[in-house]
Amino acid sequence: MLLSVIIPCYNEEKVINDMYESLRVNCDAVKASGFDAELIFVDDGSRDNTRDILKSLAEKDPIVRYISFSRNFGKEAAMLCGLNYSSGDCVIIMDADLQHPPELIPQMVEGFLEGYDQVIARRNRKGDKAGNSFFARRYYKMVNRMTDVDMPDGEGDFRLLSRKAVNALLSMDEYNRFSKGMFSWIGFRQKVIEYENRQRAAGETKWTFRKLLSYGIGGIMSFNDKPLRICFVLGGVSIFLCLVYMIVTLIQIIISGITVPGYFTTICAIMILGGLQLLSIGVLGEYIGKIYYEVKGRPHYLVDETNMDSEAEKEDKENELS
Ligand code: UDP
Ligand code: MG
Repeated sequence: MLLSVIIPCYNEEKVINDMYESLRVNCDAVKASGFDAELIFVDDGSRDNTRDILKSLAEKDPIVRYISFSRNFGKEAAMLCGLNYSSGDCVIIMDADLQHPPELIPQMVEGFLEGYDQVIARRNRKGDKAGNSFFARRYYKMVNRMTDVDMPDGEGDFRLLSRKAVNALLSMDEYNRFSKGMFSWIGFRQKVIEYENRQRAAGETKWTFRKLLSYGIGGIMSFNDKPLRICFVLGGVSIFLCLVYMIVTLIQIIISGITVPGYFTTICAIMILGGLQLLSIGVLGEYIGKIYYEVKGRPHYLVDETNMDSEAEKEDKENELS
């Protein structure tokens, strides 16, 4: 049986070698259970030496594969590419910065052998910045309430997937990919392994506040249409309040005649309704923006260089053999 390990790398020259060493050791450890391994490093358009390091690793070690993108397409694209190129009976996705301990690989493979289709490694938030973990917890609470899929805090992309699960993921060909949600959406039998949170071995995180915010909004948008529903409800509520106000004012006019002052209420109504309308248009706009990219149907990534067979080449070879 074959185990594919997918490692998205973006400017990771400082950690790649350590990562490789550690992977190598742990992949040798699963040999006893009858697994060969392939290490698929996806270089997501790095601007440092990552690509060259990967190439020299590939020359030395035949289990190392690399795929280099033409530019930075983001981690989602890198993971998708890895899944596309992988041919293992099970696949593990992990970060290059050693925050996902490779020592868990044997345990995850064991889970696969027990018959689980997803073996999820869940981290705690020990050592994270207090502010960050506070917001993250709130965020996941909110997302889980708002969306139809369950996304537990601490469960990320670090997991083992069976071929069945991988094929399920690949069958979802949406452009706006939000893996956390998709993993949960596909379901299948799941097992959770807990591990202690780690800090990045070296290099820097690629997350800026702006990226996090946009990722967060994307997460809510891509898995449900509840924000649209909320606009609908808000509209309904404000119509109701306006009606009540109208009736009350009408009665007042009937009883005591028209009184001119009303500046405050007029301004309030204009501002609140204006805000509500803009907000709703914004939500609509977000969805239309997603549809726009969805409809264009552009590829998720462009491969510049690789030592692997592409999908088409793989098929050709299989045809030749049969
Ligand atoms: N990554 C990537 N493309 C990007 C950004 C990140 O492939 O555009 C990779 C990165 O090399 C790392 C993983 O995604 O292996 C997680 O990135 P990072 O450590 O910056 O995220 P964090 O662990 O801080 O959430
Ligand atoms: Mg990291």
